[in-house]
Parts: sequence; structure tokens; C-alpha cells
Amino acid sequence: MEVRVRFAPSPTGYLHVGGLRTALYNYLFARHNNGKMILRIEDTDRTRFVEGATENLIKYLEWSGISFDEGPHIGGNYGPYIQSERFDLYKKYGMQLIEKGQAYYAFDTSEELDLMRERQQKAGVAPKYDRTSMKNQFTLGEDKTKDLLSQNVPFVVRLKVPFEGEIKFKDMIRGEVTVRSRDVDDQILLKSDGFPTYHLANVVDDHLMGISHVIRGEEWLPSTPKHILLYQSFGWEAPDFAHLPLLLNKDKSKLSKRQGDVAVEDYVGKGYFKEAFVNFIALLGWNPTSDREIFSMQELIETFSLEKVNKSGAIFDITKLNWMNSQYLRTKSLNELADFIIPFLQNINFNFISKDYLMKVIDLIKERIDNLIELPEFAPYMFAKPKEYDQDFIKKHWKENTQNTIEKYFVELKNITNWDYQTLHDFTQKYCEENNLKLREIVHPLRIMITGKSVGAGLFETMSLLQQNDVLDRIFYFLENIALKLR
Ligand code: GLU
Repeated sequence: MEVRVRFAPSPTGYLHVGGLRTALYNYLFARHNNGKMILRIEDTDRTRFVEGATENLIKYLEWSGISFDEGPHIGGNYGPYIQSERFDLYKKYGMQLIEKGQAYYAFDTSEELDLMRERQQKAGVAPKYDRTSMKNQFTLGEDKTKDLLSQNVPFVVRLKVPFEGEIKFKDMIRGEVTVRSRDVDDQILLKSDGFPTYHLANVVDDHLMGISHVIRGEEWLPSTPKHILLYQSFGWEAPDFAHLPLLLNKDKSKLSKRQGDVAVEDYVGKGYFKEAFVNFIALLGWNPTSDREIFSMQELIETFSLEKVNKSGAIFDITKLNWMNSQYLRTKSLNELADFIIPFLQNINFNFISKDYLMKVIDLIKERIDNLIELPEFAPYMFAKPKEYDQDFIKKHWKENTQNTIEKYFVELKNITNWDYQTLHDFTQKYCEENNLKLREIVHPLRIMITGKSVGAGLFETMSLLQQNDVLDRIFYFLENIALKLR
């Protein structure tokens, strides 16, 4: 059987990280099994329509490296791939179920439905459409039903769920799932405006598009018995199902906007590498081995299997994402890193001097940051003289005799002819020995004078990247303007 899977988002405005995980698992499953990956836009709920949302979804799916074989942006033999362009189909199939006696007309007004729910609440029973007492084809009889239809009285079409028996299906992750029929609501399939509900459109499309496996989030698990019934009612074979574990915040609550970013675009804006982000997302609920975490997309495709997906919720841990990003930062080429960060720097009008120089700076600091976007904040002094100085550090390391020590050292520093790491290092070491100083009595004050900060890359590496003039200027400025005030 040909593997055909789909990612079927509703265009609500942005690509949710949970949506990306669903899309990714579908994609990995498709590619692993030489199958087809389909994008279908589920926009039957026109009240939730957001302008540009579909384009936005496609943009971030493409960013992540997930490719499709069929979809609204590509075409294919099973289109259209946007549900709002398929409305006539759903109506036709809804009516087909009525003819088969598997669905029925219902004419209840919303007030009547509210009263029904109130009665059920008072009686302590679960809210569910009561086919035996409400206004529908069965209680009204065929003639009355025809009458109402001919008078254009608004109606909905509901699924006729059996009163008895069980609905069973096998979930590839959860195993056998059994639900009592009587716990399943007579789901509305066609609304009074003629639009289909998610359930009808989803099942009709999965069938017509030849979907072999439905891989989706756990929040859709309660809908699956209805879908199984729909497949049975149509006389169609149901696809296999796999429901992916929920994404959770660190405190184990459901991942929500309140506790952090949930849109993929937020993470793009925050400078995460797509390889790192996709790698991180891939491990939310799946891990083939306990001793490996870094996977390229190709390696993910090779290793992925639904059997190894966990049942329990997966924690979306930013610390882990940052660690993952730092791993990619260590291994990417300097050229690639510079090309990645330059647009960000240009965007904030940050003067990075030249790409060549930027690459040298990145090389110097990449082990010390998790995300390249930290660069302007972490090492501004590599590109301009410090604007401020870490006062705590000054208090700690600027001693009685420091001014004197540095002034003398400064005179010698001016005379250095080879301004490189080794010379600076050897010279300073020798200077300390000769003058009976500890290396830190020079290094700590120098660091603050040159960088303004208490931490950074190795001092002599830092100095050697900067111009000799510039370093001397910085020291001189500090001695003249800042150090004097410290006395
Ligand atoms: N449109 C649904 C969503 O927004 C699709 C659920 C499914 O995959 O069946 O997630």
C-alpha cells in the first residue's frame, strides 16, 4: 500500500510549534516509507478565517525544511487542497449518508438545544443530542420532515450514532482504543448554512485523497470514534491512526501562549537555527536511543518510526532548545554563521565592520554563547569602544596600586611591534615576572578597560583581534577619564 500522509492545519494565523511537530512527524514518516506528503488547508470554519494565514503557514513549513508532494501551493491529482474550495463535495457526501439512513435531518433551534442541555445538566447526565425527544426526522416522521424541508426551514445533518455497541480502533501509538457508542454524540455533519463541520470534511477528504495514515495531535483522539463511525457509514476503509503526545510546559500544564512563545515565527525571530529547532522539535515525544540527540533531517528520516513515539506528554524545554542551538553553533562553518547573522545585525543597524572581521569575532566567542543573536550584547566591544563599565568588577579588581601598575605596563605595550596573540601573551607574562606581579593584576584591569565587561573570550585573543591603536586608546581613555574618578 502506498503511504500517503497529510498535514491538515486550520489557517488560524500562525504555525504553532505543536503543528510543526505534527507536520514534521508526518513528513519523516512519509520520507522514511517512500510515501507522499500532502498539505491540506482545513478552513471550513469561515468565522476563524485570518487573511494571509495559509501563506504564513507555508512560509514557515518551508523554512523548517519540510517539503510537500501535493498541496495548494504545488497542486496534485487530488485537489483542490483547500477545503473551502470543496464545499459541494461535502454536501453531496452528507446527503449520501442521509439516503443510506446513516445520518438524519434535525430542525432544533439553538434555544431548544440550550433547553435540552439545561435539562440534562439538572438530571446529571452528560450533554448529548437526544435523538428520541428532539425535533428531527425520527420524531417528526417522514412527511413532516419533507414539509419542513420544502418550506426551507433551517436544518442540520447529524450522524446517526448507534445506541448500542462499541467503537474500536487501533492507534499506532496508544494501541487498542475502545469507546462505548452511547458515549458518542450525534455529531453535526452539515451546518444550517450548508457548510460541513471539521469531522465530515476531514473524513471525506482523507478518503478521497487516499490518506493511508492519519498522524495528528492527541487533542483529536476524542474525535476519532466519530471518524471511525463515518468511515463505516460510508462503507470506506479507515486509515491507520497515530495520535501524538501533548506538548507540555515545564510545570506539565498544556503548552500555552501564556508561558512562552508558541508560534514558530517567534523562534525564527529569536535567531534559532532551523536545523537546531527542527532537531529539538523532532525529539518532543520521540527518541530512538537514549545516547544520541543530534540528528540532521536526513538522519531523522532514516531513523524515524511511529512505534518509538511516546504516549506521555513531551515537555517543551527552552533550556534544551538553547543547548541544541549551541551544538549547531559550534559545528557550522564561520562563513555560514556570518551569513546567518548579518541580516539580524543589519536590522538593528549594528556596525559589524566587515564580514571577514565578523567571522573572526564569531570564532572567538562561539563557544561562549548559545545563540548568535547574543553577539551584539555579549561582545559589543569587538566593534566599538565600551560605552559603560561593569562597576562591580571595577570595585573588585581596581586596587590601590592598579593605576600605577597599568600606567607603567601601558608605556611598554605601546612599543610592541607584533600585535598578535602570542606576542601579547608572552610579553605580558614576562612583564609580570620581571615586575613581580601576578598575571591577574594586569589581566583583570585590562579586561575592564578594553571591554567594559567582566567576562568574555580570552583577553589576549580579544586584544589581538582589535587594532593596537584602538586598544591603546581604550586604556588611555580609561586611565584619564574613569580611573581618576575612582580615587
Ligand atoms: N484541522 C485540524 C487541525 O487544525 C486537523 C486535525 C487532523 O489532523 O485531523 O489540527
